[in-house]
Amino acid sequence: MAFDSRGGRGGKGLSVLIVGTGFSGLGMAIQLKQAGFEDFTILERAGDVGGTWRDNSYPGCACDVQSHLYSYSFEPNPNWSRMFAPQPEIKAYLQHCARKYGLLPHIRYNAELVRAEYDEKDALWNVTTRAGETYSASVLVSGMGGLSTPAFPSIKGLEAFKGKMFHSAHWDHGHDLEGERVAVIGTGASAIQFVPKVAQKAARLDLYQRTATWILPKPDREISAAERLLFRRFPAAQRALRNSIYWMLESRVLGFVINPRVMKLVERQARGHIRRQVKDPVLRKKLTPDYTIGCKRILISDDFYPAVSRANVDVITDGIREIRAHSVVDVNGVEREVDTIILGTGFKAQDPMPRGAIFGRGGQDLLDAWTDGPEAYKGTTVAGFPNFYVLMGPNTGLGHSSMVYMIESQIQYVLDALQAMRRDGLRSLEVRPEAQARYNAGLQQKLGKAVWQSGCKSWYVNEAGKNTTLWPGFTFRFRELTRQVELVDYQTEPRVATAKA
Ligand code: NAP
Repeated sequence: MAFDSRGGRGGKGLSVLIVGTGFSGLGMAIQLKQAGFEDFTILERAGDVGGTWRDNSYPGCACDVQSHLYSYSFEPNPNWSRMFAPQPEIKAYLQHCARKYGLLPHIRYNAELVRAEYDEKDALWNVTTRAGETYSASVLVSGMGGLSTPAFPSIKGLEAFKGKMFHSAHWDHGHDLEGERVAVIGTGASAIQFVPKVAQKAARLDLYQRTATWILPKPDREISAAERLLFRRFPAAQRALRNSIYWMLESRVLGFVINPRVMKLVERQARGHIRRQVKDPVLRKKLTPDYTIGCKRILISDDFYPAVSRANVDVITDGIREIRAHSVVDVNGVEREVDTIILGTGFKAQDPMPRGAIFGRGGQDLLDAWTDGPEAYKGTTVAGFPNFYVLMGPNTGLGHSSMVYMIESQIQYVLDALQAMRRDGLRSLEVRPEAQARYNAGLQQKLGKAVWQSGCKSWYVNEAGKNTTLWPGFTFRFRELTRQVELVDYQTEPRVATAKA
């Protein structure tokens, strides 16, 4: 099926293709609609909306940022059941948003983008889906997320395993772990949430930890019916809570970026947490990291340490030599038989998009523009890729607060760009390479002083030591930067003529 979403190329209309229905894609679509852009289509690779909150459904999955902040500013939810809502509630919230704002007719399900090419002659993005459908639009907005492609470890023999094996992002809910011997690989943000649940069911759990992670207490609690009623009756009370969470989290930037020595205080809190929860000194030593807190994502949990202290759980720090048909062998040659292996090994954060998917001006593959790692102007636009916007793009990630705040900032930026195109009759906007280079030089200089560069290995930083994922500063500063498109930083083409302005 061919679908043309040009919306009248010669006329006033601008057509937009959005990819993904997570917080980014849905948020973009809602704001387009509110601003009077009706000609947009949303491509979704799955059969439902929700992005990461649809895919990650492992037991114990919950947000590790307070839900009153980790939600759209324009759609407060007075009914969150806990401070850190569980995944089904967040997914339901996104489904509610899609319905409430009339997005469902715009969504094409099972429409995974496999190729997008910019046609310079017509200033159009031509997109092909895995099913072979084609779409065309003047503007392409990626809401594909920074952490949507699971990373599988390259361990000898992984494919030879004959038992059950799955990644945390593709949890096999049909498989009962009751009474099984289970191996979990990884101790990141996902694993620390599902390990306590698995430990309750499995007869034995071998937890393979390559690097210990710093964990702080989780200030979670139920939100009472009275509080929820208060939020419904007095939205200002909910706004006040949201604001207080925002400023509390924002204060963490002082330690992450401005003065990493502040992190010593946070480290003391984490050491206290482990001392209180892990009584066995050998286990405590294994679980205590040897790098500055904050260098890798700080995790929060009250049930991980008790879970790994259970008699049926073994924390193995010796590394994996190989996997055999029914067992895992560590570097000391100790072989442990298992029925199921669960990979909590994270996502391809450094390669958010595959090679051969996005082609810009002159047929350049986006990955060839990113040979030194992903890079964008204000995290959103890329030189050589006109009318292309990346939500949750390079260096927009956070170690301290809500990504939804960053996404909303970027959406405002894209909206302003589209409004400029509509107002000035432009058919293309393309960031100038020198503006992108200047922006990134400043960014990397700031990042150089941040705690994330203090020597640990994390998905924030690529092999060459360049941080391509995180925003180094206050989020309100990013919001200021993305309030308006500065057209001086862009090459523009008028709709009627083909010459560049
Ligand atoms: P992750 O933080 O990248 O953790 C992956 C884990 O797997 C790490 O412990 C890593 O060890 C280990 N690992 C990877 N390859 C391995 C190998 N070959 N052998 C042994 N161990 C290996 O991934 P994640 O836990 O899925 O979390 C990813 C991100 O998703 C988080 O940082 C967070 O931003 C987001 N997330 C958010 C929430 C939330 O509540 N909002 C929940 C879950 C995830 P090393 O540390 O040694 O690399």
